[in-house]
Amino acid sequence: MESRNPGKAEKLMDIAIRRSFLIPSSQIYGSPAGFYDYGPVGCAIKRKLEDLWRREMLQKEGFHEIETSFILPQAVLKASGHADNFADPLVACNSCKSKFRADHLLGQLPQVKKDGVQLSGLSPSELSGLLKKYKASCPQCKKEELSDVGWFNLMFSTNIGPIEGNTGYFRPETAQGIFLDYIRIIRNYGSRLPIGIGQVGKSARNEISPRQGLIRMREFTQMELEYFFNPSDSTHPKFDSIKDQTLRFADGEGGYFEIKISEALEKGLVPNQIMAYLLWKQKMLYLAIGIPQSKFAFRKMPKEETPHYSRGNVDMEVETSYGIIETAGTAYRTDYDLSQHSKHSKADLTVFDEETKQKVLAHVVEPSMGVDRMFWCVLEHCFREKSPQKEWDWFDFPPAIAPYHAWVFPLMKKDGLDKKAREIEEKLREAGLSVYYQDSGSIGKRYARADEIGVPYCITIDYESLQNDDATIRFRNDGKQIRVKADGLAERISKYVKEGRTTAPEPA
Ligand SMILES: [Zn+2]
Repeated sequence: MESRNPGKAEKLMDIAIRRSFLIPSSQIYGSPAGFYDYGPVGCAIKRKLEDLWRREMLQKEGFHEIETSFILPQAVLKASGHADNFADPLVACNSCKSKFRADHLLGQLPQVKKDGVQLSGLSPSELSGLLKKYKASCPQCKKEELSDVGWFNLMFSTNIGPIEGNTGYFRPETAQGIFLDYIRIIRNYGSRLPIGIGQVGKSARNEISPRQGLIRMREFTQMELEYFFNPSDSTHPKFDSIKDQTLRFADGEGGYFEIKISEALEKGLVPNQIMAYLLWKQKMLYLAIGIPQSKFAFRKMPKEETPHYSRGNVDMEVETSYGIIETAGTAYRTDYDLSQHSKHSKADLTVFDEETKQKVLAHVVEPSMGVDRMFWCVLEHCFREKSPQKEWDWFDFPPAIAPYHAWVFPLMKKDGLDKKAREIEEKLREAGLSVYYQDSGSIGKRYARADEIGVPYCITIDYESLQNDDATIRFRNDGKQIRVKADGLAERISKYVKEGRTTAPEPA
């Protein structure tokens, strides 16, 4: 996969802000780093990505969706380990008082890069040693006066209610709420494993130095699924239907290979059928949102980057102009979370297995995705530069995740054309399509504006439409138009969205 291209990232971010995909948060007060708002165009895409995840990862699998609290009491995060261990290495400049993430600072030094020094998972004293060895200086004031490295906990803390010392935290991941509610849900559903419970929601991490736009933010949206199963049975009922499909993996040396799912299991790249199935679902999801297979791959995490309780972590990596970024992680977390919460809360989190007449503490496979990173990858891979065929930059979004399914135009704002266009707009809306009425500027300008935010279909009402009760549909990717009856237009557009059509159909 290609290397980084910061120029492209900058250009895309500029377009994203100009076209209402994104708005720097609290902009009129100077935009603190690490926060972005989604404007109308971006928000529409983000919702569609979340809905697609819901449909594919939860609804089609018969799983449950919940929504849990954003603020958690300290006891929960003590049990999960976050209160004590969820930290990044921090180094300060003794001269100008700036603060930096020690591993990132080191990673930017040319000599460190050249020596290929492994920086993840190092202790503060090891990082301090490296800073001295490489004579690191402050990136801000350039003085060689860096402090020793210490830990900085990434959770935002707050006080719950007026009683001081009643500490709470903004959740650093959505998963914990699922572990807390699991026992109540499974008992309500007949205490039978396996069961899948997911949620989509905000999490917060007080990053030392947020950077790279949406890639490292202080507030972000996660989509997490916990698949709880009996450890005595890690088969998946749909495994046979996918075992001959393939997954693309990174080989750990900069290369990639395609491997049959059954073989990935035999070779230990994937720990069990459950994870294999969930990785395949992720692959299909990524293809559906317009990321080509050549631009993403799975990576089995090496032992030293995997928590002690894990029986296998597999990341999803996507090529972007920031370099390769991790957009999803799937972990076989065993019974670690449930056993921690059971120990700390004294609650019994086991279910009774009718067959073996034994109490079972469920194991968990957790696919976790970041929506914001996914959104950015979609922008990157659907962006098309202007060319002789199209004189403006545009986005080739799959119709299902485009911000609007269609824009509706009257040729002119008079002679009843506008009234007819409004009628069409209303009908499309009633059919559940996302549409926008647009009557300013020339038709050519309106087509360009629609292309620039990736709208797949433009529907125009002209004088002929009034006579024949029809409309033209102009297709984004080839710019071709067809004339169709107004009756059945909504069904037709819905069908095109479903098919993913972006060019005009051949005349019958
Ligand atoms: Zn300094």
